[in-house]
Amino acid sequence: MSDIIHVLPDSIANQIAAGEVIQRPASVIKELVENAVDAGAEKIDVIVKNAGKTLIQINDNGCGMSETDARLCFERHATSKINNADDLFNLHTKGFRGEALASIAAISYVELRTRQEDNDTGTSLVLEGSRCKEQTPCTTAKGTSILVKNLFFNVPARRNFLKSDTVEYGHIHEEFLRIAFIHPEIAFSLYHNDKLIYNLLKSTLKQRIIAVLGNPAKERLIPVEQKSDVVDISGFIGKPEFAKKTRGEQYMFVNNRFIKHPYFHHAITSAFEDVISANHFPTYFICFNVHPNLIDVNIHPTKTEVKFQEEKIIYSILRATVKRSIGAFNLGSSIDFDNISPIDFSSVPQKGIPREPTVTTHPDYNPFHSPKTTDTYKNTYSTLKTGKADEGWQKIYESIQENTPAESSIPDEGEQASMKPFFENEENADVDNRSAMFQTLNKYIVARIKSGFVVIEPEAAMERILYERYNKYLTDSPQNSQKLLFPETLTFSPQDSDIVHDLLKEFRNLGFDMEAFGKNTFILNGVPADVVDINVQEVVEQLLESYKNNLISLKISKRNNMAHSLAMSVGRKKMLSLSEEEMQSLVQALFITETPHVAPSGKKICITFKENDLIRMFR
Ligand code: ADP
Ligand code: MG
Repeated sequence: MSDIIHVLPDSIANQIAAGEVIQRPASVIKELVENAVDAGAEKIDVIVKNAGKTLIQINDNGCGMSETDARLCFERHATSKINNADDLFNLHTKGFRGEALASIAAISYVELRTRQEDNDTGTSLVLEGSRCKEQTPCTTAKGTSILVKNLFFNVPARRNFLKSDTVEYGHIHEEFLRIAFIHPEIAFSLYHNDKLIYNLLKSTLKQRIIAVLGNPAKERLIPVEQKSDVVDISGFIGKPEFAKKTRGEQYMFVNNRFIKHPYFHHAITSAFEDVISANHFPTYFICFNVHPNLIDVNIHPTKTEVKFQEEKIIYSILRATVKRSIGAFNLGSSIDFDNISPIDFSSVPQKGIPREPTVTTHPDYNPFHSPKTTDTYKNTYSTLKTGKADEGWQKIYESIQENTPAESSIPDEGEQASMKPFFENEENADVDNRSAMFQTLNKYIVARIKSGFVVIEPEAAMERILYERYNKYLTDSPQNSQKLLFPETLTFSPQDSDIVHDLLKEFRNLGFDMEAFGKNTFILNGVPADVVDINVQEVVEQLLESYKNNLISLKISKRNNMAHSLAMSVGRKKMLSLSEEEMQSLVQALFITETPHVAPSGKKICITFKENDLIRMFR
């Protein structure tokens, strides 16, 4: 038996490591820009061609490297940032693994030019697939310029898995902003295909946000500030009324590093709970400063999740701080934010256990399995199944009619007078109590049925009706489209545009006559014949947001997801005061659906009160 184990050569080891660190062009941008920040640069230029697939170049005016370091930096585990294991608990730099440059060099063609301030000459280095092709002295500006070409040239599998330029550029753009937002003290520029995308001057965080989001943001930001023993929080939140329908600017940083933290995200959104509607997303830029030893340093190179030691306490502080900022803003815009006294968290017990927030869900509910219909609907339902929808409605209607009190049972004058105080407190005091249906609390429809009465939540009912209607359009009978006199253009983010492209056929079946027009733009030639008075851009944005959420949280088909999402976004109208006729057609349409008592989102649609139950309640 001969020995079969051998140690892999560095070039292959690096290529394997690269698979973890460098997933796409945006990962190169992230690593190189972070290196430039760690090098103390005051100005960083990012130049990208074809979404980084052909060229990525980063120029910085940081500390530069010596001749030897310029060669060493491409070795695996070569770093100037830590010396021993203890340093891991006191990190002040973004990098520390010494893996990025070795990984990048293993899978691309790299040119490096670098010079330290007190050297007259710099060093130029050319590498291809980890191999150093040449190293020569050169004249170059102070700092480092690194150029990466033909990414993944020797890893075809990776290269073939890259998405369209639009998608890949979208990732680059996002990585760039994640660093640029949190380093306003550094000037940044970004060029894509020779076009200047951003030229961000040295500034404050607020000015940086405005420089990126545009001038209107100036009036839309509320400062957030809180110091405590465990954490210092600073940053800005967007005013509630500017919350968006698509998840937009939500940034969290810890010690100048972008992080994703669902638990803290929940703290922020729950602070917004009462002031924005459920389908809107607040804007936030929240920076945490904590002692480096209070967070887990074992951060995966490409992951953005960070573990905090005092998560529960930080959750409460964060939520209270954001709430206070919103409250202060609501008191009036004349308020002087600099003089609001921060909450005193100095007495926060270090090991206290603040109550965890509860999220209400229906754990057993699956909107895509029809639950057993309740007795009340069984008859109607089965009639409808046989295709006699009108008969079904007739039954309910008859039942409602039957339950309309006969003349003789209408209370006489005296009785009416004694009932007055009760009715006076009701919003529906003027409802004709002989009518078969009425609306109460500006919302619920109350209808009498044979065995008692049923209370219907009209918005949830609408959701159910639309969901089933759209599902039908998507399966067997596409909806007619109504031509627009003036076609509209719709524009979406690169990520959203990709989804729209993917769903064009479904959109057409639903009556949205849309065609692609350039990368992120679409022309809308017609809208569904039965949809009036909607802002299509808004509806489609809501649809995409809910579509994306469903992709993550529900394992449902594209068709169900699309029908569900559109029903949610079209059916969002408030139904405040419905006419008798409107109530009747809504109830009629509801009872011919497959599951009239629960909406696709899980919301309860109707509750039946049996006469017997009612009588029992008074015993
Ligand atoms: P890490 O950042 O984890 O240390 P890298 O592979 O990204 O690992 O970089 C290796 C080393 O190369 C860094 O520790 C640093 O000393 C040096 N280096 C990389 N980029 C630059 C730069 N732009 N300017 C100066 N030094 C740099
Ligand atoms: Mg690095």
